[in-house]
Amino acid sequence: MSEKKPGWKEIPIAGVPFKSSLEYKTGDWRVLKPVIDDDKCIKCLLCNIYCPEMSMLVKWDETGNKPLGVYVDYDYCKGCGICADICPVKAIEMVKEER
Ligand code: SF4
Ligand code: SF4
Repeated sequence: MSEKKPGWKEIPIAGVPFKSSLEYKTGDWRVLKPVIDDDKCIKCLLCNIYCPEMSMLVKWDETGNKPLGVYVDYDYCKGCGICADICPVKAIEMVKEER
């Protein structure tokens, strides 16, 4: 017979940040980092849409209407690899983080 597990009211609060997440740079959690090949990128912006950390940013032209490319905010990118998986032309490679 299995042991009864505690309910949510019995579990202690842990790891809850009470400030803006801007103050918690999560980039140092990363094991792999995305590197973009600008020559392969077709500027579809799927990586920007799918990044769960809003860390895949877009370079726009002066009109603000035409994307010139994408770049990574390494302060917050956690290295999940979703951008590399979603990229239709495999322009993003996940490489080992060197620290
Ligand atoms: S690896 Fe994950 S967190 Fe980092 S830019 Fe790609 S989708 Fe965003
Ligand atoms: S998903 Fe790939 S091709 Fe599309 S913008 Fe991102 S890097 Fe470029």
